[in-house]
Amino acid sequence: MTGGHAGRKHSLLSPSNAHQWMACTPSALLGRQFPDKAGTSAAEGTLAHELAELKARNYFYTVDFGKRKLTAAINKLKKEELWDDEMMGYTDDYLDYVKSVAMKFKSSPTVKLESYLNLDAYIPHLPDEDEAGGTADCILIGGGILHVIDFKYGKSPDGRVNAEWNPQMLLYALGAYEAYRILYTFKTVRLSIVQPRLPDGISEWECSLNELLQFGEFVKERAALAIKGEGEFAPAPKTCRYCRARGRCKARAEKNVELAFLAGTDPNLLTNEELGRYLLKGRDAARWLSDAQDAALSECLAGKEVPGWKAVEGRGSRDWTDMDKAFGVLTSNGISDAILWERKPLSLAQVEKVVGKKNFQELVGGLIIKKPGKPALAEETDNRPAITNKVSAAEAFKEEE
Ligand code: SF4
Repeated sequence: MTGGHAGRKHSLLSPSNAHQWMACTPSALLGRQFPDKAGTSAAEGTLAHELAELKARNYFYTVDFGKRKLTAAINKLKKEELWDDEMMGYTDDYLDYVKSVAMKFKSSPTVKLESYLNLDAYIPHLPDEDEAGGTADCILIGGGILHVIDFKYGKSPDGRVNAEWNPQMLLYALGAYEAYRILYTFKTVRLSIVQPRLPDGISEWECSLNELLQFGEFVKERAALAIKGEGEFAPAPKTCRYCRARGRCKARAEKNVELAFLAGTDPNLLTNEELGRYLLKGRDAARWLSDAQDAALSECLAGKEVPGWKAVEGRGSRDWTDMDKAFGVLTSNGISDAILWERKPLSLAQVEKVVGKKNFQELVGGLIIKKPGKPALAEETDNRPAITNKVSAAEAFKEEE
């Protein structure tokens, strides 16, 4: 039995968007009038979560959910449109991590998979919602430790999530504390986020129970404002990224437009300090412009007026009505197949996918070199080490030898 990942009901102030409503308290209520545009990647993540849960269930509850049940459940998931064989490997990585955490407990921990955690003690809910809460992927309890593990299936380095003071994870920990405090004593709270599709995709952090409870008090203050749509707007790249109001929000628009004028008023060349500062301040501008364009296009298509703008048909493309017939006509008129068809090798990643990771490594692993990626600009907080074209003294000396 799975935890019904696709059927999760998100309350207005849910743990998964706490990074948004805790920072910008009016955002949740403001965004309510706009549809939630969860895309294909969210649906793909849901599927991967279901698979991860099945594997964890089989590992921890083997008697109830043995190999046969696991295989049958996985075969069912394989029929889903978004299924991809690589999900098997990534969910194995997640399970390996969960196992390694469980094994570090002095005695077998209590394991809760996909448990729904009520957060009514911290977060109010709207009259049409049953309660405030969220579902944690995996909770391990034992020896005074409360360990919350979250599986994230994103693959964009831009979407890397850090466990340190992570509000979603801390809310799960608070929910678990409330649910199990009668049965267990807690001293230490550990949080782990597993993002197997990213290199170094594990983030871990720990705090004391006291710190968790202090965070809980802070949540109460922010949630009391958020449920009423009160407080200050706080536009910032990470806060606004998934906000439903991101294309129409005045505070975000004003911040970005003001920045554009700020940079334009200085006729002199920017110093590196200014360049760094402007880039940091303006990092949300491009995304905001694209969100605002999406919002304006929807309005124009709905027949509403956005002064200065209209919706038009994009550049069309041509396609065969019957390709086989067209190629038949061409070949019968002397155009050979060699001209009409091109033979292209699959990319390395595509070959790995069709051959399977293990086979691929065994057969051709020795024939691969890793080329460095194109230099990219990243914020100082990024995990990757900084690179430079500057020749170091050691390298220069080596050349002379
Ligand atoms: S777009 Fe940003 S500033 Fe505006 S409501 Fe949403 S989170 Fe707040």
